[in-house]
Amino acid sequence: MRGGIDLGGTKIQAVVVDDDSKVLAQARVPTPTDGGPADVSEAMAGALRTAAHEAGTGTAQLNGVGVGSPGAVDEEDGTVSSARNLPGWEGTFALGKDLGGRLGTAVKLGNDVQVATDAEFQLGAAREFDSVLGVFWGTGVGGGIVLDGRPWVGRGAAGEIGHVVVRRGGAQCPCGRRGCMEAYAGRGAMEAYARRRQARGEHTVLFDIMRKRGRERLTSGVWARALRAEDPMAVSIVARAIRALGAGVASAQNLLDVEAVIIGGGLGVRLGEPYAARIAAAMQPHLFLNMQPPTVRLAALGDLGGAVGAALLAA
Ligand SMILES: [Zn+2]
Repeated sequence: MRGGIDLGGTKIQAVVVDDDSKVLAQARVPTPTDGGPADVSEAMAGALRTAAHEAGTGTAQLNGVGVGSPGAVDEEDGTVSSARNLPGWEGTFALGKDLGGRLGTAVKLGNDVQVATDAEFQLGAAREFDSVLGVFWGTGVGGGIVLDGRPWVGRGAAGEIGHVVVRRGGAQCPCGRRGCMEAYAGRGAMEAYARRRQARGEHTVLFDIMRKRGRERLTSGVWARALRAEDPMAVSIVARAIRALGAGVASAQNLLDVEAVIIGGGLGVRLGEPYAARIAAAMQPHLFLNMQPPTVRLAALGDLGGAVGAALLAA
């Protein structure tokens, strides 16, 4: 058995898998919002202990644990730097060593989005392809690349598809730059835009649904419900996001010419097939080889893909 942990800005997802990467048990806890990297590491250990217990084992008996992490990941040194979505994590932390000590087994680190892409490539929606672009549509928009059967991480920072420019001088992106795809399509930026439009007096049910569901943010579930209610603001903001995704993903396709594009992430998985199809349609006008578009599919491993992909690091 192996362990896998997907470390996210809002939740920590842990799984225990068997030799065939079948999920035997899983546990999810909220990511600590204060403290520092050691507190996050302990929360990760706690989630994996719960999953291991449920699988009838202990973490020290696992044949290794993989972690998909945000920030700048140094796989060789086992460190994570500048994970700005995590509390007190502006610097560098030896997560591999620290977490390994807590769990009593070896820990390997990888980039969160890249391991989720690898999971789809090895086990999920992209199994029959050799070249894949994973697009993870959530709070931000992340990307993972597999070329000729191998992950492409560049010098460590490849795949930042959220920050391809779809409009020069355009909307402000959470990264501080302007006109990035994420400035239109990231759930964080979409929420900020919805709040601005509401403040200008425009009506929407988005925030009513949010409060009714006891949320503080416009989660993927809130967006899905507002779309189902045909809320005009939600419909228009999602349409704007899809236009940006179409331009950005098609531009990446023009550069890489991959066989398949896999749409995942919290919002991507929640909105599902019809929206993956809309992204494919929005790509069409921007594809240089529009007669030969890539196959566009929804991620098959859903919410657990990141953790299952992380467990592959320990295989
Ligand atoms: Zn950006």
